[in-house]
Amino acid sequence: MEKVPFMDLEAQFKSLERQLRAAIEETLQSRAFIKGPAVERFNKNFLKLHGGRFGTGCSNGTSAITVALRALGVGAGDEVLVPNHTFFGTLEPVVEVGAKPVLIEIDPEYHQIDLQDAARRLTPKTKAIIPVHLYGLPEPMDEIMAFARTHSLKVIEDCAQAHLAKWKGQPVGTFGDIATFSFYPGKNLGAYGDAGFILTQDEKLFDFVNRYIDHGRRDKYLHEFFGGNFRMDGMQGAILDAKLAKMTEWTKRRRELAKAYDERLKDFSKLKPRAEAEAVYHLYVVEVANRDQVMAHFKAAGIGCGVHYPVTMNCQPAMAQFGYMAGQFAVSEKFCSRILSLPFFPEMTLEQMNFTVTEFLKVAKS
Ligand SMILES: *Cc1c(COP(=O)(O)O)cnc(C)c1O
Repeated sequence: MEKVPFMDLEAQFKSLERQLRAAIEETLQSRAFIKGPAVERFNKNFLKLHGGRFGTGCSNGTSAITVALRALGVGAGDEVLVPNHTFFGTLEPVVEVGAKPVLIEIDPEYHQIDLQDAARRLTPKTKAIIPVHLYGLPEPMDEIMAFARTHSLKVIEDCAQAHLAKWKGQPVGTFGDIATFSFYPGKNLGAYGDAGFILTQDEKLFDFVNRYIDHGRRDKYLHEFFGGNFRMDGMQGAILDAKLAKMTEWTKRRRELAKAYDERLKDFSKLKPRAEAEAVYHLYVVEVANRDQVMAHFKAAGIGCGVHYPVTMNCQPAMAQFGYMAGQFAVSEKFCSRILSLPFFPEMTLEQMNFTVTEFLKVAKS
């Protein structure tokens, strides 16, 4: 067994075992396997904790973006701006709805959306932009909203890694037209299967979303339009609601651990939230010049790690059909070749961190 796992879902389960078993038992008793009272309770409680007016659980974080694009009327003939440095699930839905993803470069300091680059890639077909609060580090939402307003773009915030994060005191996901979340098991709030959330401040959009995710229906057998099945399972709702009780504590702990890493890794470039951001640190990412060597050393020492993400969107084989290829995005491609995600989870002990840092410093070059 690894001395320091990359993340520890077993420790998390043990810290909430009684409540999680009760949640599963509740689902078995109620037999509300799809949507139902536990999902409704979770919807209310997640909105209350994160902030925002209207929201609903759904099937996962990728389909949440598909639904958001549909709700905003994005489809064939439209172009959507997406950061080149993100998880593939951010841009896949753009293609799913028949639109064209247009990649934008990241800035070299914060590794977030470069709005000057975005401006250069605008065309009369550009319909929307998807800022991603990657790693739980909020994007500068007032600048992005000003850019979107100037160019009449819809905004979908991908909050898959940013539950409870804030920009200038306001919850992420409440700036744009619609926001999406993922509860993939390893996310800051994780289900025991696939699950996601769609958030909006607009009641009309919410009404569309609610029907779209459930076969476009208002009544059981009355379908007003063609939607699909993007609902949340009752079991996931019950499990997520039980986990919500710990979210504030887990988020606080993530911030403390990130600070502790920062202090120990002074000579390296690391994740850096902007001054106005309240980050929630989904991952702890550091830049190294000799990543393969560090990863091999970690493996031998029994330390888990990962790379999020090793291949930029322009280098993905699936993106070749849109004319993208390696060598087109200098900043993000260089960044991707240097990043390493260190072990990071709320239950991590300082002993585990100290061991990780000691082994890291033995081989890592900045
Ligand atoms: C996890 C993730 C998604 C996709 O969420 P799923 O629930 O796995 O479908 C989308 N975007 C980002 C940035 C993610 O981290």
